[in-house]
Amino acid sequence: MLWEERWHPLREEWVIVAAHRQNRPWSGEVVQTPAKALPAYVPDCYLCPGNMRVGGRRNPNYQQTFVFDNDHPCVGPDAPADLEKPSGIYRHQPAQGIARVVCYSPKHNLTLAELTPAEIEVLLHTWQDQYRDLGARPGIDHVLIFENKGEVVGVSNPHPHCQIYATNFVFKYIETEARAGQRHLAETGRVLFQDILAAEQADQARIICQNDTAIAFIPYFARYAYEVYIAPKATHPSLAALADPEVRDLAQILKRVLVKLDNLWQMSFPYVMVLHQAPTDGKTYDGFHFHIEFHPPLRKPNLLKYLAGPEIGGGNFLSDTAPEEKAAELRAQAEVHYKSVQG
Ligand SMILES: [Zn+2]
Ligand SMILES: [Zn+2]
Repeated sequence: MLWEERWHPLREEWVIVAAHRQNRPWSGEVVQTPAKALPAYVPDCYLCPGNMRVGGRRNPNYQQTFVFDNDHPCVGPDAPADLEKPSGIYRHQPAQGIARVVCYSPKHNLTLAELTPAEIEVLLHTWQDQYRDLGARPGIDHVLIFENKGEVVGVSNPHPHCQIYATNFVFKYIETEARAGQRHLAETGRVLFQDILAAEQADQARIICQNDTAIAFIPYFARYAYEVYIAPKATHPSLAALADPEVRDLAQILKRVLVKLDNLWQMSFPYVMVLHQAPTDGKTYDGFHFHIEFHPPLRKPNLLKYLAGPEIGGGNFLSDTAPEEKAAELRAQAEVHYKSVQG
């Protein structure tokens, strides 16, 4: 029985772990998993090569990754700069920045899990270029790279892609992690994330896989059932700072984890994936250790983790699962994608 509260050192908050409740009776909504096979090319997909997008731009016949400015940006250079002053204590600023889309591959039906490690490596280099390019621009304080995958997280177009928000502010979780890391460094002389890696290596129970320079694990303080962290073992403020062999190792670990996630329930595993990289606001972030976080919304096949009173109302997570158990489940999964076995 696991029933305790665990401290999340990066977010500086408590997580209530009540794993003894996992099998309590449930009569709520279950998610239907569409199993229909997709074609490699869809004539009316706005992400497929050669197709027309809204606004009249045509995609090139791209062969690997393809990056373009989002046609419906949430932050953009055209956001109004002449704003009316709000009353009293209220503050505002122009919603300026750059929003981009990155297609992983010309194939409409190839998810990140189904790309080869070499293709994932190409994508990682694309992300490096984007972080360097956008982060160096004046007024861009942070570059958030993320993928929403699956209908349960609201993705309407299944063509595998991620998004980039380069903003004039630092996203909240990054700001919190950066502050926690800086304080830890000042107090102990050590990098906070290195202390997390040391604790995970000491326990072993939550490690999913690793190679020479990269590691995947479900952290002790995980909020979601299958919340996997993937990181280089050496401290780098961003993906852009990784040497080529480290990028190759990271691509290999990503591939292994993504295949395991898909194999778990023999379905394309939905998630929110986010790269946590240091801000690009010109300050130094010595204690910041780049990592990738997966926040999968399902805790069982077809069963959503609902955010409710504790999470939405109070701001702390209630987890129904033991990270040790979930990590063991993923460790046990094969590393050959189930579709390639069937196919
Ligand atoms: Zn497509
Ligand atoms: Zn993080």
